[in-house]
Parts: sequence; C-alpha cells; structure tokens
Amino acid sequence: MKKKQTILVTGSSRGIGAELAKLCKKAGFNIILHGRSKTKELLSLAKELDSEFVFFDVTKELEVKKAFINIKQLNIVVNSAGINISKPFEELDINDWKSIYETNVFGIVNVIKSALPILKKNKSASKIINLASVKGTYSAVGRAAYASSKAAVINLTSSLAKEFAPEIIVNCVSPGFSSTDMTEKTWSKRIRDQVNTILLKRMADPKEIAQVILFLCSEESSYITGQNITVDGGFGIKNV
Ligand code: NDP
Repeated sequence: MKKKQTILVTGSSRGIGAELAKLCKKAGFNIILHGRSKTKELLSLAKELDSEFVFFDVTKELEVKKAFINIKQLNIVVNSAGINISKPFEELDINDWKSIYETNVFGIVNVIKSALPILKKNKSASKIINLASVKGTYSAVGRAAYASSKAAVINLTSSLAKEFAPEIIVNCVSPGFSSTDMTEKTWSKRIRDQVNTILLKRMADPKEIAQVILFLCSEESSYITGQNITVDGGFGIKNV
C-alpha cells in the first residue's frame, strides 16, 4: 500500500487554507495545519481534523526555521498565508509596502527555503503550490502593493518550477474574490461594488478555490508544473 502523503498548508487557521485542509483530510492526506500563532481557530480545527499543527510568523526567517526542525516528513507545501492592504497609492506608506512584501513574497521564500531539504528527500515528485491572486495579473485602483506582491508570487512560481524540475512540481492558484475574513476586512464596499462585474455575479465560496488546489495536490495533476491557474468566476477576462 502507498504511504500517505503529508501536506503542510500555511495560513490554514481560517479562510481558503482551512477549507483546503478539510478537503485534503477527506481525500486521505496527512495534514499539518499552520497559523501565525496558537489561535482558538487553529486549535479547534486541529481537534476537528485530528491533525498536527505548527505556528510561526512567515515573515520571521528564524521562527520558520525552528518550526521546521520538528517536521520530519513532507510531500506538499501549500503557501496560503497572506495579507491584503487596499489603499490608494498616495496613502500607502513604506510600512504598508514592507508588510505586504514581507508576508506575501518573503514569507513564501522563508517557508520554501525551510521545506526544501525535506521535500528533496522524497522518492516521488514533491509539490509546492502558491496562492497568488487574479490581481497579480489584472490589477485595479488601490491595489498597487497587494497586486504587485501577487505578480511576484506568479513569477516566483515559474522561476522555481524551472529551477526545481523534475524533482519538485511548482504551481500557483490565483483566486478572485472569495468570501473569507480577507475580503470582509478590507474595503468591503468597494469589493461589493466589484462583485457585480464578475461574470458569475458572485464571490467564490472558499471551497471552490480549495477544490482546485486539491486537484493540484492530487496525482491526477502530475503533468502540470510552472502554471498559474486562475479561479475567479470570469473576473479577470473582462479586463481583456
Ligand atoms: P484569510 O485572511 O482568511 O487567512 C489568512 C491566513 O494567513 C490566516 O491563517 C493567517 O493566520 C495567515 N497569516 C497571515 N499573515 C501571516 C503571517 N505573517 N504569518 C503566518 N501566518 C499568517 O485569507 P484567505 O484565506 O482569504 O487568503 C488565502 C490566500 O489567498 C492569501 O494568500 C490571499 O492573498 C489569497 N487570495 C485571497 C482572496 C480572497 O478573496 N479571499 C483573493 C485572491 C487571493 P492567523 O489566523 O494566525 O492570523
């Protein structure tokens, strides 16, 4: 019988990461949950899924390295941890820019650096899946910091797919608006106005994003690497 594959999902205390963890558990994977700290949500999901969890701030390289000392087996890393700051360019201060890039870009770099030695030990192909955003391809007013950080994630994905092939498969999923804390907390009136411009006229349920990530985690996607798969209800193509 084949050994169960282990997936670390960063940012799985809530939102898309939490939905993915639930689907992956159901599909028979071992899950390692993750949050910035030991929150109620993280502990309760770990109990519900009877899963291990780790906690670290992705922006703190040393904290990430220390947390990985206890991870012995890992086949797939999903980088879902991320933040959003939506403000017009003139209102974005340098700390906004730094926290966006430190979390969304360098956070992924920190996690991948620590995961690489474990991923390289696997006999079959390991996988890295990064969460970017449709905004990484088609930006909008007030999204300069967030959108450009996600453009970096899309580009990082194709760079690493080339550098790590064939041992490690690297892909990216770019969601459109999804009903999570992230959309609730940031500029929600503006987001509500934009929902009408989505071809499918609604936000995604986070499960609809998680299902696509689950496909990339599964053996059925074994010939896909270096890709950015957009799951946005047709939001992006209206820009074309
Ligand atoms: P949520 O805001 O619901 O959850 C964010 C998760 O990231 C939480 O688990 C949070 O942990 C974790 N996190 C944030 N900052 C850090 C940090 N510095 N260190 C460790 N963990 C951190 O986000 P979503 O689920 O909505 O988004 C998931 C991904 O999808 C993100 O990368 C986002 O940019 C992307 N995305 C989301 C869209 C949406 O509409 N929701 C649209 C397009 C892209 P904690 O609970 O401990 O704070």
